[in-house]
Amino acid sequence: MATNLIGVCQACGRRLEFSVEHSGQSISCPHCGRPTRLKPAPPELIEAAPPDVAPSQPLAASETEPEPDATQRRLQRSYLKLAIVTVILLALLIGLVQVAEWLRNQAHQP
Ligand SMILES: [Zn+2]
Repeated sequence: MATNLIGVCQACGRRLEFSVEHSGQSISCPHCGRPTRLKPAPPELIEAAPPDVAPSQPLAASETEPEPDATQRRLQRSYLKLAIVTVILLALLIGLVQVAEWLRNQAHQP
């Protein structure tokens, strides 16, 4: 029965779980795809490296996660653009109504 060890990816700093017979092998990290060596990490390093956060090397980690983030930001930006366009159109409409009102008032005056 193999015991699972916990290490930390040398590229992205994320947690890696592997069985003891794979210890010392080089693999490509399932999180960032970069080559890393499987070796048991000291507990404090594992504590500092939860599976979804990489505090030691944020640069490497940011390469794995930009896509959903960027998509979300792009989506938010397009919503923002839509909101701005809506506000501008509403302002134009209100302006037109006001001009029409003003013209009607002008026409009623002697
Ligand atoms: Zn990694």
